[in-house]
Amino acid sequence: MRAYTHPACLQHDPGPGHAERSERLRVVLQALERALPDLDWHQAPRASRGQLLRVHTESLLQTVLDTRPQQRIDLDADTRLGPGSAEAALRAAGAGIAAVDAVLHGHVQRAFCAVRPPGHHATAASAMGFCLFNNVAVAAAHALDAHGLERVVIADFDVHHGNGTQAIFANDPRVRYVSTHQWPLYPDTGARNETGCGNIANVPLPPGTTGAAFLAAWQETLLPFLDAFRPQLVLISAGFDGHRLDPLAQWALEAEDYARLTRALVAVADRHAGGRVVSLLEGGYHLQALAESCVAHVQALVF
Ligand SMILES: [Zn+2]
Repeated sequence: MRAYTHPACLQHDPGPGHAERSERLRVVLQALERALPDLDWHQAPRASRGQLLRVHTESLLQTVLDTRPQQRIDLDADTRLGPGSAEAALRAAGAGIAAVDAVLHGHVQRAFCAVRPPGHHATAASAMGFCLFNNVAVAAAHALDAHGLERVVIADFDVHHGNGTQAIFANDPRVRYVSTHQWPLYPDTGARNETGCGNIANVPLPPGTTGAAFLAAWQETLLPFLDAFRPQLVLISAGFDGHRLDPLAQWALEAEDYARLTRALVAVADRHAGGRVVSLLEGGYHLQALAESCVAHVQALVF
């Protein structure tokens, strides 16, 4: 089991009072080091422009990488670009690339990317919702294009819908994207009738959703949809903002619920994909809940 991170991911600063702050990653790193001292840590490389261009437009690359602002600038109402943002975004996307390489070269079965900024709201052409590049989409495209995989799944359990990931792969039958998310909630996508080319399954769930209802949605709807695809690689958009303490949403999950779902996703990978799972950190905005949930998730990936 490998873990990828980079100190540059701490240098993306969206500004005072912003929920997506560097302390998030700091508490995750501290908690993982304490709970799992044998994790095999690697420094994330930078994603190349060519790797990013598999899913993003040249104009988004220019905005994120070439602006190099001296002070923070707003890309949308809650997404900001500062002096450290370009390097953080390159390392966050590069972590997923390196993790995919590691599992597909057989160096390791599973890998976790402890990175920020998160990615799943970023579309082909736009940064949005705290996200600059879509890290999990870049990782999936790398598995398809560089390694020749034909069936990759992305399981997104962040409390928000991964609108960017869905849009990027909506017409690509080589990828199945599945998500549970609170409804209604930002970004107001992910209705059940959004099915792409038959490769997307969404289960919106109301505020107050408990672990039992969350896990039932996966067991009854999403995991069978993934199993039927016989994926060669399982990618996870691992957001922990469905925790009952999270300030940005109103679900009632506990850390152990993330462990239960993770074990079920590992079982999918064991059945079809030689156990290969790459998980990338997305949201989670209550520091203690984020750290505990993330440890529960990574422990479930290890065992
Ligand atoms: Zn989220």
